[in-house]
Amino acid sequence: MADEVEMFFFPFMGGGHQIPMIDIARLFASHGVRSTIIATPDNALSFQRSIARDRDSGRPISIHPLELPQGSEQPDSDMSAAPFTDTSMLQEPLTLLLIARPPDCIVVDTFHRWSADVIDATGVPRIVFNGNGCFSRCAQELMRTYKPHDMVQSEYDPFEIPGLPDRIVMTRSQLPHFHKQKVGGKPHGRMSNSEDKSLGVVVNSFLELEPAYVEYFKKEMVKKAWVVGPVSLCNRNVADKAERGQQAAIDEHSCLSWLNAKEPNSVLYVSFGSLARLAPEQLLEIAYGLEASSCSFIWAVGKIFESLENGQRGRENWLPSGFEERLKRSKRGLIIRGWAPQLLILEHPSVGAYMTHCGWNSTLEGVSAGLPMVTFPHSAEQFFNEKLITDVLRIGVQVGSMEWASWNTKPGPPVGREKVEAAVRKLMDGGEEAAEMRRRAKDLGEKAKRAVEEGGSSYEDAEALIQELMSRKKVSTKRSSR
Ligand code: UDP
Repeated sequence: MADEVEMFFFPFMGGGHQIPMIDIARLFASHGVRSTIIATPDNALSFQRSIARDRDSGRPISIHPLELPQGSEQPDSDMSAAPFTDTSMLQEPLTLLLIARPPDCIVVDTFHRWSADVIDATGVPRIVFNGNGCFSRCAQELMRTYKPHDMVQSEYDPFEIPGLPDRIVMTRSQLPHFHKQKVGGKPHGRMSNSEDKSLGVVVNSFLELEPAYVEYFKKEMVKKAWVVGPVSLCNRNVADKAERGQQAAIDEHSCLSWLNAKEPNSVLYVSFGSLARLAPEQLLEIAYGLEASSCSFIWAVGKIFESLENGQRGRENWLPSGFEERLKRSKRGLIIRGWAPQLLILEHPSVGAYMTHCGWNSTLEGVSAGLPMVTFPHSAEQFFNEKLITDVLRIGVQVGSMEWASWNTKPGPPVGREKVEAAVRKLMDGGEEAAEMRRRAKDLGEKAKRAVEEGGSSYEDAEALIQELMSRKKVSTKRSSR
C-alpha cells in the first residue's frame, strides 16, 4: 500500500523550481504516498492553500515548517530566487528533522547545493530534482563530449550537435557561459556528483514527448530516473490554477471574462517566466511587434531589467506612446503587470498560441495545453528547449533570439519588432504550416494528459518509484528485526 511510504520534498524557492516540486509532492500524495513538503514558513505561504485543499479532499499531504536557526537570514522567498541563492542556513534544522523523523526518501532540489552530503550522512535515501527535461540534458551531455562549438570561428557560425537522433543546429551565441569555459566547473548537462550518489532523479517530462531522449537519459546519464510529468496537470480545480506560484496580479474573473469574449484560438499569451528581466528596449520592440501583428493578446509583463546606463526609462514608460489606451479601446490586448494565472490562461479555449521564453515548466505547460508556440529564449537551458519545440516536435516558430544572457546581466541587443510580428503572424494568421503545428500540438496535449492518468507512462513511473521505496522499506525492516 502506498500509504506505507512516506516521502519528503525539499523545494528550492525560485518559481521554476518550487512550483513543479510542490506539484510533484501533490502528485505523489494523489498516489496515496504520505507526502511532506519542507519549507520555511515564509515560503509555505505561496502554496499552503492548495495543500489545505488537498488535505480537505483526503490526500495525505502536509507542510513541515523549517524554523531557521536564530540570527540567520531568511533566504529569498519571492519566487525569483537566483540559482546561486545560499540556503545553507537550513542545513541544521533539516538534519535534525531527518534524524528525528526519517522518511523513506527525500526529493531534493539540486540548487540546495550543500544538501547531498548532509542528507546522505543521515542515511535517508535521496532523490534529485533538477527541473530540466531530457532533451536539454542529453544535448548538453553531447556538447560536453564532442565540443562542436569549439570548431566554429565566430559566435554566429552554426554548428550541429553530434550524436543526437535529430539534427540540432545552434550557435555559440546561444550557449550558456559554462559551456564556453575552457577549464573548471562541471558542465550543466552531465550527471552531477550529487545525482551520482543519489538513489536517482525525478524528471518533470513524459515519455511520449521526447521518447528517444528519455531513453538515452535513463540508460546513459543517470543511475535511475522516474519521468512523472507534466506535473502541472495535478492542478485540476480553478483555485489551484489561479493561485499557483504567487497571488496573481489580476483577479481570475476579469481575466476569464476578457478571454470569454474572444473567439476560439484567437488570443496569443505572452510570458517570459518568473526570473527573466527584459530590457525596456526589448519590451518596446515586443509591444510594437504585437500591435503590428493585429492579433489579440494577453501579455504578462514580469520583471524589467533596470540598467543605470543611458538614464533609466522608469518602470511605467517603456510602452509606446498611447499603446495601452489603444488596447483598452480596441479590447485587443490585456497587460498583466506582475504574476499571471498562467495555467488558467493557457487552458482557455480562446488562447491559440503561446509566446514563451522556453523555461522548461512553461514549455511543458504550453504542450499540456496543446498550444503551438512562438519561442523567445533568453537564458539557462532555454535555447535547447527552443530546439525541442521547433526542430524536434515542430510545434513552434522561432522569433529569432540569438543571444544567451544570464538572468541578471544586461541582455544583448533586442529582437526587432519585425521579427516579433512575423513570428506571431506565422502562427496566428493561419496557413497550412500553422495548421499542421496546431494539429501536432493538440495531439501532444492529449498525450500529456494520458501520460498522467492511471495506466499512462508517467503514472506508471510514479508507481514504479513507490514500489521501489516499498521494497527498500521491507528489506530494511527485515534487517533491523534480525
Ligand atoms: N508563472 C506563472 N505566472 C507568471 C510567471 C510564471 O504562473 O506570471 C509560472 C509558470 O506557469 C511556470 C513557472 O512560473 O510554472 C516558471 O517556470 P519556467 O521553468 O517556465 O521558467 P523560469 O521562471 O524558471 O524562468
